[in-house]
Amino acid sequence: MIIHLKKEINETEATTIAQQLEAIHYHNSVHAILVTPSATKTISDELKAKADGFWPMESDIQLASLSYRNELREIKWGNTVIGGTSNNMSVIAGPCSIESWEQIEQTAEMLVGLGIKTLRAGCYKPRTSPYSFQGLGLEGLKMLAEVRKKYGLNIISEVKDSTHVADVIEYADIIQIGAKAMYDQGILKSCGDARKPVLLKRGFGSTLQEFVQAAEFILSRGNEQVILCERGIRTFETKTRFTFDLCGAAYLKYHTNLPVILDPSHAMGYAYGVPDLAKASTAFGCDGLLIEVHPNPKVAKSDASQQLDHPTFSKLHGELKTIATAVGKNII
Ligand code: PEP
Ligand code: MN
Repeated sequence: MIIHLKKEINETEATTIAQQLEAIHYHNSVHAILVTPSATKTISDELKAKADGFWPMESDIQLASLSYRNELREIKWGNTVIGGTSNNMSVIAGPCSIESWEQIEQTAEMLVGLGIKTLRAGCYKPRTSPYSFQGLGLEGLKMLAEVRKKYGLNIISEVKDSTHVADVIEYADIIQIGAKAMYDQGILKSCGDARKPVLLKRGFGSTLQEFVQAAEFILSRGNEQVILCERGIRTFETKTRFTFDLCGAAYLKYHTNLPVILDPSHAMGYAYGVPDLAKASTAFGCDGLLIEVHPNPKVAKSDASQQLDHPTFSKLHGELKTIATAVGKNII
């Protein structure tokens, strides 16, 4: 159950009530908000007098649920807004990893030329092998901060473990939690304490319930800005890297109040399929796309097979505009 306490209830009193109910509690700009275990069904008359809203919930999808907030949350970073009443679709692009200043400048110039506002680039890469490129780490984050200053682009970068979560929170405009990190509660809690948007990727072996519960870890610590990202799940199929779960994305769109961004690059794993999937995602009416691009994909140090070269991406971006307009979305 979610309970909004009356404005006059102070922090100390809210804390006492939360302890009695075994609830998590946080304050937003207006209310003290309590989230009790979903098994809680009854409330005392004394508590009724102290609250001005109750939302009993059947499951542990609570703050993220459309039954709690029957509107999409508005998420803002820099000069960009998605969700709310905006109808915006944010195209976020960039390399899998930042590899050098030259590489990231070439990418930034191309994105700015297309009017794109947000650059993606990983600095801490969750690689399957310890012998693969692990990312530039803090040096990469500092370069991304330079790119933001020079090109006016917003930056999204990923956190892979707790050793660098504070650095990513400090340097990035949006904190990306990678698919493999989705279950890391230390990361989820640190991002819940941050006050910046978080893009949470779905673990490739996680159910939709587990995915949204991971988002609840962030929301229930008072960070109201969570974006969900479908990036492909593991199925029996091996011809593509993962299976792009648009059914799951539809579930999220119709049951949660969180914007949904789609990542065809990681789902497909091969550049040849990414443009068509990006178009399908746009027709789907997603709130954003995450697409990997590289000035020379053949030499990329991570995810080389799936990154689009710049001419292919530029052409795709033009095509997406037409589709977005047809489904009532504005590409930003
Ligand atoms: C990435 O965005 O480069 C990445 C590693 O994604 P995922 O966590 O979805 O595998
Ligand atoms: Mn990648």
